[in-house]
Amino acid sequence: MALQAPEGTRDLLPAEARFWKYFQNTAADIFSRYGYQPIETPLFEQTELFVRGIGEATDVVSKEMFVAISGENMNKLLSGGTIKNKSRLSLRPEGTASVVRAIAQHNLVTPGGAPAKLMYAGPMFRAERPQKGRQRQFNQIGIECLGAEDPSVDAEAIIMLMRFYQALGIKFDTLRLLVNSMGCEHCRPAYRDSVRDFLLAHADELCDECKHRAETNPLRAFDCKKEACVKVMEEAPRITDALCDDCKEHYAEVKRYLTEAGFDFIEDHTLVRGLDYYTRTVFEVQVTEGMGSQNAIGGGGRYDKLMAEVGGSDTPGFGFALGYERCLLALEAQGFELDSKATVDFYVACVDDSVKSTAFGLVQALRDAGYCGDMDHQHRSLKSQFKQAGKMNASFALVLGPDELSEGKVTCRNMEEHTEVALSLDALRAALTENRAASTSLAALVSSLDEK
Ligand code: AMP
Repeated sequence: MALQAPEGTRDLLPAEARFWKYFQNTAADIFSRYGYQPIETPLFEQTELFVRGIGEATDVVSKEMFVAISGENMNKLLSGGTIKNKSRLSLRPEGTASVVRAIAQHNLVTPGGAPAKLMYAGPMFRAERPQKGRQRQFNQIGIECLGAEDPSVDAEAIIMLMRFYQALGIKFDTLRLLVNSMGCEHCRPAYRDSVRDFLLAHADELCDECKHRAETNPLRAFDCKKEACVKVMEEAPRITDALCDDCKEHYAEVKRYLTEAGFDFIEDHTLVRGLDYYTRTVFEVQVTEGMGSQNAIGGGGRYDKLMAEVGGSDTPGFGFALGYERCLLALEAQGFELDSKATVDFYVACVDDSVKSTAFGLVQALRDAGYCGDMDHQHRSLKSQFKQAGKMNASFALVLGPDELSEGKVTCRNMEEHTEVALSLDALRAALTENRAASTSLAALVSSLDEK
């Protein structure tokens, strides 16, 4: 059998790859209005970055990371040897740890300077059990804002994300914004202990994993989807009752900004999200229609201790990531169809091979002038070349034959209007040389030559 893409991965064929570009451009357009600049970090990092940044006990780090290893190091390990710490590499399961590492490494936040606002787009890798909306390689767009603690940063980023979904065309009334506060290093430890004690007291009602979580990562028990655990967790201590005064005020301010900007949200005290680095604000955006259980299309929060955790100076931060594939599923569930038709400006058809060299030169001149299109490379009949022009949605078919060539002409057929004009080949070439910037549409160029 022919080889297939690995389980949990998808090829983005041209229509979808085009949409992914559009998706990124739309995000860049909106996020740049809020001051975000692009950054690209490697697809793999030292494993230690994710262990320290995301947390050893998280599912993402403990179970889902793909190890990246050179053949040489693999052989060393297989023969019982060891490899250096810096050679222990993993494919990035998310973007925040890498961007924060880059900000620390390059000193992008200067004391007293403006916050660093960065955005990224690209693939993330998690060895999860594949299902609809859950892949092993998926694309995220995310932002990180480092250097400001103020709740206005949190609210601004959440609003920016909601504006992005709006711009994409996801129906606003199907979006659900959940918010919570996870507390800080002062109030969270005591809360964590109280949840651990609660879990231990209800151990016989919990699944094995949640029993284990009581010791390793108690707050993750809020994420368990098993009915019995969900029921138990309804009675668990609430973080909002355990926040210190500063966290309470910060959370209240975030909510105030959102309310004043006209955004509805749901306070969800069980929202803890899967990564250990969050402090204070966490949020998630879900789509309420047509998505099944994988209905979270984006989320993030504040991580005031992460920079110090990965070796930088103590710098507050806020970020989010949104999933491209899930946004596309949400759009499709609402009736959106990927535009499978690319359009081109021209298709140059040859009556026979004697005109091929001239056609080849004309195609290059058209492209050099900024127009896109193609010609036949397979010696097809004129009829099938026209078919091909139709398939490519060419606006114009330019037909060259021995008769046209002897008269120094090219027949130019408007494919939509089914009209034809004969243009002087020399005049067309001259106009193309003048029009290198392609400031004129091909239709306008053709009609200007037709009048001459
Ligand atoms: P997270 O990095 O887990 O906070 O996820 C942020 C967003 O990425 C989620 O809201 C999803 O839209 C998307 N996402 C996370 N994991 C996956 C996955 N395995 N497959 C597809 N999308 C994902």
